Amino acid sequence: MSRKTGFLFHELYMWHDTGQAALWYPSGLKVQPGEHAENAETKRRMRNVMEVAGILDELVDVRAKPVSEEDILRVHTADYLAGIKEMSAGRGGDAGEATPFGHGSYEIACLSAGGTVAMVDAAIAGTVDNGYALVRPPGHHAEPDIGKGFCIFSNIGIAIQHARAKHGIKRVAVVDWDVHHGNGTERIFYEDPDMLSISIHQDNWFPVDSGHIHQTGEGAGKGANINVPLPPGSGRNAYVGTFERVVAPALRRFKPELIIIASGFDGSIYDPLGRMMVTSTAYRRMTQILLELADELTGDKLIMSHEGGYSAAYVPYCGLAVMEELSGITSSIADPFAEIVDGSGGHQLYAHQDDIITKAAALAEAVPAG
Ligand SMILES: [Zn+2]
Repeated sequence: MSRKTGFLFHELYMWHDTGQAALWYPSGLKVQPGEHAENAETKRRMRNVMEVAGILDELVDVRAKPVSEEDILRVHTADYLAGIKEMSAGRGGDAGEATPFGHGSYEIACLSAGGTVAMVDAAIAGTVDNGYALVRPPGHHAEPDIGKGFCIFSNIGIAIQHARAKHGIKRVAVVDWDVHHGNGTERIFYEDPDMLSISIHQDNWFPVDSGHIHQTGEGAGKGANINVPLPPGSGRNAYVGTFERVVAPALRRFKPELIIIASGFDGSIYDPLGRMMVTSTAYRRMTQILLELADELTGDKLIMSHEGGYSAAYVPYCGLAVMEELSGITSSIADPFAEIVDGSGGHQLYAHQDDIITKAAALAEAVPAG
C-alpha cells in the first residue's frame, strides 16, 4: 500500500559541531583528537542512500522552521535556554553532560526541534500520513534543565507540547527504540497520564542508573511510563517480541491520537555505542507493527524523529528499510549487509531476554486506558 510519507532534512543540521573526541570522550591530554561519534556522516549518508535508491523523490518534502522561545519554554527552563543561547553566541560549550557544541548550535537545535514540530504539523494537517524527520542534534536525553548525551533540546517533547497547545491533541504515545534510555522524554512526562512513554534500551547503559523497569511514572502518570531494559546482545526476536508483546498491547490499551518514534539506529549490530544486534530486517518488521497500530489507532499518523545511530556504514540501510515500509515503496537498493547480519547467531529469544519482556508485558496491561 502506498502512503503519503514525509521526509525532512536540512543541511544546517550537518553543521552542528560536536568537536574532537574519541567516540564521545573529549580530546585532551588523555585522548588524541579524533572524530566525535555524533558527527554529520551517519545522518548525511542515510539521506544520500535514499536519493541514490530512488526513494527520496517519491516522498513529500517537509521543511523545518526554527521553534520559538515560547515553544522551548513549554519543556525547558528559562535559565537553561538562556545558558545555551549565551554559549552558542560565543565559541560554544557543553549543554550539561557529554553534550559539546560549537558556535551557532542554539540556532541549529531550534531548527532540529522545529523539524520534528513541522513533521507533526504535517501529519495533523493531513499533508502526510506518516513521516521521518532526520534531525540533528538529537533530543531524547535532554531534560528540562540539562542537556545530556549529545541532546540540547527535547525535540519530541517540544513537538508534543506544541501539538497540544496549537492543535488540541491530548493523548500521545512515544516509542523509543534508540539503544539508550529516553531519560529526557521520561522526565518531562513522568507525571502525565496522557503521554505514554515506552523506551526499549540496553540495560543500564546510558545514562547510568536510568531506565529501570520499576520506573513506571508517578502521581497521575503512574503506569504511563514503560522501560524495557533488554540485556546486551539482544537481537531480532527480542526486539520484535518486545513490539508484539509490549508495544502493541500498551498502545491498543492507551489509544493515542498520535504515535511518535524516537528513532535511534544505535541498536544496530554494527554500532560502536551499543551492544545490541538489530538488523535492517528487524527495524523493517518493527516499522510494520507500528504502521498496523497507526492504521488502527491514529488514522495512520506516525512520526519518526531521528536520535542516535553511529555506524556510518550501516545506519543508512536501517533507515532505508524503515523508509521503504513507511512509504510502501520498494527502492532499488537492498541492504548489502543483510545476508551476513541476518544469518548470524544470537537472534533467537533467550530466557534472560524473555524474562524482561514478560515483566514489561505485565506493565502494558496496566497503562491508563483511553
Ligand atoms: Zn542512543
